[in-house]
Amino acid sequence: MTVYNKAEKLTKDLAELKRKGLTIGFVPTMGALHEGHLSLVKKAGNECDVVVVSIFVNPTQFNNPTDLEKYPRTVEKDIELLEETAASVVFVPEVSEIYPNEDSKKMQFDFGQLDKLMEGKHRPGHFNGVAMVVKRLFEIVQPAKAYFGQKDIQQVLIINELINKYLPDSGIEIIKCPIVRESDGLAMSSRNALLNKQQRASAATISKALFEAKEKYKNSTVKEISEFVKERINSETNLSVEYFEIVDGKSLQSIKDWSETNEILACVAVNVTESLRLIDNIYF
Ligand code: AMP
Repeated sequence: MTVYNKAEKLTKDLAELKRKGLTIGFVPTMGALHEGHLSLVKKAGNECDVVVVSIFVNPTQFNNPTDLEKYPRTVEKDIELLEETAASVVFVPEVSEIYPNEDSKKMQFDFGQLDKLMEGKHRPGHFNGVAMVVKRLFEIVQPAKAYFGQKDIQQVLIINELINKYLPDSGIEIIKCPIVRESDGLAMSSRNALLNKQQRASAATISKALFEAKEKYKNSTVKEISEFVKERINSETNLSVEYFEIVDGKSLQSIKDWSETNEILACVAVNVTESLRLIDNIYF
């Protein structure tokens, strides 16, 4: 496994591998790796000849400075973990490699309604920052396939739109991978490392509420399920629902009746502290 810090060198070496006919799979991450990330690396390894993993805590996607400051950073351990996986290349750039000047941080994207809802509404500028870094990383790596987790479902839809609208000739295929969970159901997340014991115990309620909602939705209205989930999570000390939305899985528009879509998606964001929030989602 080779570790790169420089974009230009990585692009050059990957171009050489592509010339030899090898396919490149790409897994962008912000590090503090867990089994969720590793499941993406594994899938990429099954489908591609060369797996590139990037580790970059992207400042432009953080709307909360405390969240950025506290975001767990464990690069050495991450690289050790990746040694045991299908990853053959790790890209760990400095901020200046990704954003060489102020202008490179000024790109503006238009994703229509997709980035105005849910995470977009509660984290202003977040998806513009995500689109900026992913576009730049795609241009550096130029993969055949890129792997993203359903954990961040809105991000997956936005990256698909990024390809359709801003990189239509790139030929990059976006692969959506299932959510990996802890044994009590909590969706794995780098931010889980920041939970204290009590918060961690409470956090299991988030996925439990979603699983229970899925079990009983057919005998309830959308409004009833919505109230049930919010009540179930809010009744837990430490947790406060920021939003719970039942939406169409493609447009992310809220539905009022189950018959409005055949891809029902329930999404939740929960505040644990002022600077620590967790998200999760489930298809019914
Ligand atoms: P992050 O490091 O949080 O930016 O995540 C990097 C990639 O891993 C994103 O595509 C995430 O959606 C994905 N990911 C994060 N957590 C999970 C999980 N629990 N299961 C599957 N994929 C995940």
